[in-house]
Amino acid sequence: MSATLGALLRQLQPEWSITAFERLDAAAAESSDPWNNAGTGHSALCELNYTPAKPDGSVDITKAINVNEQFQVSRQFWAYAIDKGILSDPKNFINPIPHVSFVHGADNVKYLRARYDALAGHPLFADMEYSESPEWFSERLPLMAEGRDFSDPVALNWTETGTDVDFGALTKQLVNNVAASGGTVFFGHEVTNLSKQSDGSWIVKVRNRRTGESRKVHAKFVFVGAGGGALHLLQKSGIAEAKGFGGFPVSGAFLRCTNPEVIARHSAKVYGKAAVGAPPMSVPHLDTRVINGEQGLLFGPYAGWSPKFLKQGGVMDLPKSVKPNNLMSMLGVGMTELGLVKYLVSELSQSPADRIVTLSEFAPEARLEDWELIVAGQRVQVIRRKGAGGVLEFGTAVVNAADGTIAGLLGASPGASTAVPAMLDVLERCFPQQWAGWQPKLKEMVPSLGIKLSENPALFEQVWNWSTKTLELDVASDPVPTAPVEAAAV
Ligand SMILES: Cc1cc2nc3c(=O)[nH]c(=O)nc-3n(C[C@H](O)[C@H](O)[C@H](O)COP(=O)(O)OP(=O)(O)OC[C@H]3O[C@@H](n4cnc5c(N)ncnc54)[C@H](O)[C@@H]3O)c2cc1C
Repeated sequence: MSATLGALLRQLQPEWSITAFERLDAAAAESSDPWNNAGTGHSALCELNYTPAKPDGSVDITKAINVNEQFQVSRQFWAYAIDKGILSDPKNFINPIPHVSFVHGADNVKYLRARYDALAGHPLFADMEYSESPEWFSERLPLMAEGRDFSDPVALNWTETGTDVDFGALTKQLVNNVAASGGTVFFGHEVTNLSKQSDGSWIVKVRNRRTGESRKVHAKFVFVGAGGGALHLLQKSGIAEAKGFGGFPVSGAFLRCTNPEVIARHSAKVYGKAAVGAPPMSVPHLDTRVINGEQGLLFGPYAGWSPKFLKQGGVMDLPKSVKPNNLMSMLGVGMTELGLVKYLVSELSQSPADRIVTLSEFAPEARLEDWELIVAGQRVQVIRRKGAGGVLEFGTAVVNAADGTIAGLLGASPGASTAVPAMLDVLERCFPQQWAGWQPKLKEMVPSLGIKLSENPALFEQVWNWSTKTLELDVASDPVPTAPVEAAAV
């Protein structure tokens, strides 16, 4: 997030001085590291949590359109950044990979058909295919077909034009750009306090974690892009807008495939349905990854729980975040989210064999010895004040002071895919005086800025073609068979 904001500001105000502090010794070693997240370019092509069923059996696609619109903004900025040399080598961070929704069981098949009917006529989802055919399934998803009992009906929504994004590689390229264009980046430096001055500026207290030395930095604007560490820093800033917010950490683990033959037999990001009580970000998925030019495969996430707010954080993170102003919000959530707690306890008690049973819903012949368990990034879900209590949210929230001198980002979903629209939101909120003057440059970076692509198919086609070409996302002509007409019409 911070790297994106830095790169945007470098384009808009190249003469402004930018300093970034990272507590670890490398960029993107927390949630943005490629193996700490699933690298899905979230555009609601396959994630069923964005398309809930309505009581009448039809499907609500409002959230899906919104998430897709946001991803188109990121896609355009990345394409602009390649054109201008801010980013280089798109294959290093973004690669085309089909996005697929998978269900089994008659009721779920009915739901997926309704989802397809609701989305397929929409300009942003026009490439989507649908099939209930076991033959089609077996041709496209051989690993998932082996050993499958097709007497249990299956259905797929398939979009060839999805993406895998290595957000770690992207972050590193953006940080390099900020540093190479006059910004300063300190690693191993932790921000420990923020205090507002009478003229509206901020004193940022920073500790060098290697030497223990502390220093103070003066800033007219502060962006708290600290991931799970953002809540503590926003609380330290004392801004009224951060009061009432709390955080609920959810950790996760993935199974990573270690057998190259198994990896080679699957080329798609396949999302299933979440278990009852599971939070939306715990939808199981079998994901092809492209990291450092190599194809990988992961399955998960298996949810877990730890009081840490960062993977490399401390066990006092959660207790330290409880303040008089958010106590009621947090207690309120504790009382209402018992289903989530039950789900987390059941996930935590899974043995390696249990995890393979979960995986076998996707890959029926999966063997324990082909997979290793890896710890994923830590997500801190947003708890927001609501009435006398609080509510747990699974999205992201930009929090900014009314005077625009400080902003931060809480939450982690849809995540890094929406970094560009999230940071444009920060700029609009915090720099109202510059926003109008920035429009020509912003439109160069994101030609659809302020326009709903879903309502402007011609513009969508234009920016889609441009970003596809620039990001080298052209899908080779018909690499997999298209849906048989009879199956598509079921
Ligand atoms: C299991 C999992 C799966 C996910 N899957 C996806 C996905 O498929 N697609 C997607 O788009 N998103 C996904 N996400 C979300 C995505 O990873 C995050 O939204 C995104 O990486 C967050 O970026 P960030 O810059 O806010 O935080 P981070 O990448 O965590 O960066 C914050 C940085 O701030 C540093 N920091 C913290 N405190 C301080 C301090 N006091 N001083 C200095 N530095 C500090 C940290 O060390 C860290 O490097 C997933 C997340 C998880 C955990």
